[in-house]
Amino acid sequence: DKVEIKTALLSVFDKTGIVELAQALSERGVRLLSTGGTYKAIATAGLAVTDVSDITGFPEIMDGRVKTLHPTVHGGLLAIRDDSEHQEAMKKHGIEGIDLAVINLYPFEEVRAAGGDYPTTVENIDIGGPAMIRASAKNHAYVTILTDPNDYAEFKEQLSADAGKTAYAFRQRMAAKAYARTAAYDAAISNWFAEALSIDTPRHRVIGGVLKEEMRYGENPHQKAAFYVTGEKRPGVSTAVLLQGKQLSYNNINDTDAAYELVAEFLPEKAPACAIIKHANPCGVATGSSLVEAYQRALACDSVSAFGGIIALNQILDAETAEEIVKLFTEVIIAPDVTEEAKAIVVRKPNLRLLSAGGLPDPRVAGLTAKTVSGGLLVQSRDNGMVEDLELKVVTKRAPTSQELEDMKFAFKVGKHVKSNAVVYAKDGQTAGIGAGQMSRVDSARIAALKAEEAAKALGLAVPMTKGSAVASEAFLPFADGLLSMIAAGATAVIQPGGSMRDQEVIDAANEHGIAMVFTGMRHFRH
Ligand code: 5GP
Repeated sequence: DKVEIKTALLSVFDKTGIVELAQALSERGVRLLSTGGTYKAIATAGLAVTDVSDITGFPEIMDGRVKTLHPTVHGGLLAIRDDSEHQEAMKKHGIEGIDLAVINLYPFEEVRAAGGDYPTTVENIDIGGPAMIRASAKNHAYVTILTDPNDYAEFKEQLSADAGKTAYAFRQRMAAKAYARTAAYDAAISNWFAEALSIDTPRHRVIGGVLKEEMRYGENPHQKAAFYVTGEKRPGVSTAVLLQGKQLSYNNINDTDAAYELVAEFLPEKAPACAIIKHANPCGVATGSSLVEAYQRALACDSVSAFGGIIALNQILDAETAEEIVKLFTEVIIAPDVTEEAKAIVVRKPNLRLLSAGGLPDPRVAGLTAKTVSGGLLVQSRDNGMVEDLELKVVTKRAPTSQELEDMKFAFKVGKHVKSNAVVYAKDGQTAGIGAGQMSRVDSARIAALKAEEAAKALGLAVPMTKGSAVASEAFLPFADGLLSMIAAGATAVIQPGGSMRDQEVIDAANEHGIAMVFTGMRHFRH
């Protein structure tokens, strides 16, 4: 299974370590073939190298679009060395075997990330590189493929250990990595098109990304984990700069994303807003006249659960807010930016992870979300429905007051980010009680009311904040029982999608109690 390297083709965009590698190969008497820029780098170092054009008998044409796309190259990479017909074809067409391919690609991902214009980004789609990588990897029984300068050292060790040969297991592992690279590369191209054209239909794009980092563990310590980035230009946990604190864990990333996507629903120019998240569900969300007030109001909803939570802000973290936040144990803060004064305050809590996202994601922008199932991926367009864009239908005799309407929209917006079944009570731009993830909607309503009672006790309030609140259900109320439990908690206004077989029953119950109810016509399941 050992194969001696006699001929190598080097064609790299990232020239890191290429001269040293060429040197090591040269010393072993390996014949070097190369393309334009790589050829120059190697020749300049004084090594003997043959231009690929000399073996193809064809010059590089069309600004390098066609340089290695030739049977001499691909035959050399793909030939089965101990197949007599392949041998004969090689002889007949003057094809020489290529035992090693060292290739890395045009920097499509980097150009995209840097916001390259359309033609520049298109020009950075490498064609010949992926073709050679895939050909070499397919023929890993005979050919070694290196796509990452980080692998050169191990490769050189292989050569030294066994007289210029590589082991089959090594070639296999490099082949697997090679296909991971070309798959990620094509996924990036597809995602770029999708973003440029606002495509959110799953069949016109592919979910895929580039490895950003490996975590120490996953959701639990016995699980392995890594974070891949799709390259989407969406400010958030994937683009944020960690200003202080340890690397984010798997759960931190998941919760921080939930927190930031939620808080981004609140326009910063309208009001400062804060969301506090635990286990991907909000335990408090509020707006305020200042950022610190928004934080305090979010915290008041459920200060017990907020311990060890993730805090997301829709405005620049200032000193006053930072001073309040550091009073409590918090895992992560994420904000569009952080003032120098705020940084100096957060520094006192060295374990607190502080993220500057550089902006807020647009909740209306198209995109995909995915979830794995056994043997598959479930892909859908992002839930970018916004209550502001919906035509709300008043279905009760009593129409909501303008304050109730505001509270209803606030509650429905938060409900979109709560695991189903979700029931959210809100008043004056502050969640009053949140019921998440129950199998029965009535239970979610009851839990939310119960949490509000506990919060009232903790805050020394005479009545829970659910009294006189608006309440949202992210999906329709199937029976009147859920509504009755909401009324018992003191809600005076209800917002829900509507569309149940028993809508009329629910409307009648609302009318009986003088409740105002609106239907949104849009559901926000979240599982
Ligand atoms: P060089 O700097 O050696 O001129 O070019 C190296 C780059 O060209 C590598 O990134 C390699 O993947 C890419 N490449 C090699 N052959 C071809 C080809 O035939 N067409 C295109 N578009 N790129 C190629």
